[in-house]
Amino acid sequence: MTYSVTLIPGDGIGPELADATRGVLEATGIGFDWDVQEAGEATIAAEGTPLPDRVLESIRRNGVAIKGPITTPVGSGFRSVNVSLRQALELYANVRPARSMKGVASRYEDIDLIIVRENTEDLYAGIEHRVGPDAAESIKIITRAASQRIARYAFEYAVNNGRRKVTAVHKANIMKLSDGLFLESCGQVAAEYAGRVDFEDRIVDNMCMQLVQKPELYDVLVLPNLYGDIVSDLAAGLVGGLGVAPGANIGETAAVFEPVHGSAPKYAGLNKANPTALILSGALMLRHLGETDAANAVESAVRAVVAEGTTVTYDLGGSAGTREFGEAVAARV
Ligand code: NAD
Repeated sequence: MTYSVTLIPGDGIGPELADATRGVLEATGIGFDWDVQEAGEATIAAEGTPLPDRVLESIRRNGVAIKGPITTPVGSGFRSVNVSLRQALELYANVRPARSMKGVASRYEDIDLIIVRENTEDLYAGIEHRVGPDAAESIKIITRAASQRIARYAFEYAVNNGRRKVTAVHKANIMKLSDGLFLESCGQVAAEYAGRVDFEDRIVDNMCMQLVQKPELYDVLVLPNLYGDIVSDLAAGLVGGLGVAPGANIGETAAVFEPVHGSAPKYAGLNKANPTALILSGALMLRHLGETDAANAVESAVRAVVAEGTTVTYDLGGSAGTREFGEAVAARV
């Protein structure tokens, strides 16, 4: 089986991470037909936009993309490519696993959380305005359709990945209508999974405290956009930070896999940055494609090389380059 996959190397450290990731994914023996699409800083000069239409067309055609980070130019008038992609392709679910890794310094050892964030509405719908000179209003949009869709994604994820519980996170005690609708929608979907996956809910402030004190009590979390943005970084912090945090943006017809971190321009071209988050995003892509054995092999190889600690990048206390780390992981696969 050969998969056609859109590969967006990105800019900054992106291209180096993408090379390392490609080597690891190819080491699984699975065939990839890489449709390489440049986007970001380089295409602004050449094509007048950081996100040419051909990139979207490629992802629509292939249904799957893996993407390095892309710089959001400050003050240039261009929107974030990352946000534009999610909106154009209606990538409604942002999935971020947070799993402890031996060899990565953190406060806990056994964290294994999946954060499922609704990616299309809430306060991120971008509807805000000034009310006179001294006040401003942002409108929080919550719909039953989007809330049920994200809840269903979370429950399906739980069923397909042997997870036992979904926790809906909200502030329905204060925002009784909007967050109330989110919670109600999650409860409706949960009823369809009764007996297979447990369901509970937590108020978001309490959730943050509980995640810091008793993270082992939680499994899959489903959240509206804003809380999801914040709590997923909290969860990444529990397992050692953004450098090792993979992510997936999933829609009905396309999915884009990318690390949580940005383009770290100061390390660009230095063969220094850690490709772990992009490689693990590649493992999420394999899982999405149904290639579970290959996904497990990639994750185990990353974990083994990081735990061993002899061929790791500067951020994990080593002196290996991006390329050497990638080669060590590929050899393990
Ligand atoms: P960043 O994540 O790029 O870098 C923050 C710091 O984290 C870096 O200086 C570096 O010390 C460390 N770091 C990040 N990734 C690393 C890696 N793989 N290996 C080792 N160290 C790593 O965040 P930033 O500096 O706020 O953003 C830089 C640019 O990236 C901005 O233009 C921002 O808009 C963009 N960005 C893009 C994405 C994306 O493409 N999805 C996400 C976040 C930020």
